Amino acid sequence: MKDLQKLAGECMSQLDRIGIKYGTVRFSVNTRAKKRWGQCIVRGAGVYDINISARLLGDNVDDMAAKNTIMHELVHAADGCRSGHRGRWLAIAAAVMKAYPGYDIKRTTSNAEKGFDEEYVPSKRLEYKYFYRCLGCGAEAKYKKAGRFIKNPGAYVCIKCRGKFVTAEEYDSLTPAQRAALNRALIAGMTRK
Ligand SMILES: [Zn+2]
Ligand SMILES: [Zn+2]
Repeated sequence: MKDLQKLAGECMSQLDRIGIKYGTVRFSVNTRAKKRWGQCIVRGAGVYDINISARLLGDNVDDMAAKNTIMHELVHAADGCRSGHRGRWLAIAAAVMKAYPGYDIKRTTSNAEKGFDEEYVPSKRLEYKYFYRCLGCGAEAKYKKAGRFIKNPGAYVCIKCRGKFVTAEEYDSLTPAQRAALNRALIAGMTRK
């Protein structure tokens, strides 16, 4: 198994060299995630936990497959996990790729692009009907059926950042600044309509 701390250290010193700040980041290996390569979670002001799928750290996997994901998550940290995969996140990712052309930081990456056989994909695509996103960190909430959350999304907060949820449609229609403002307003208890 590859040394995650070593690969992460390499990515962080590359960011340091071009002056991109990412705060305090703790890395861990995720042995359970089947559907995601990596995840960045806000733990406090400027403190982030990033976990990377063990699948990417196998000895037979290319180093760059792991480093692209580590860098992807570090860019979330550098953005304060605010912009999802748009806005400032995109701008920082572009700056990293400009400085280090070996990187290919994508919003999402297929199994095939990571060098895995597509047949490895353990989950079949689920037919979600309801899509919501957190205004604070962009986390997705997807449901196949209209359950408790769908009946009253306003009553729920994001487990990652305590943000409020809106439909994915509304989320996409807002700029990062508008999302932040709406999030603050909803947290403060403003009711809409
Ligand atoms: Zn991401
Ligand atoms: Zn959130």
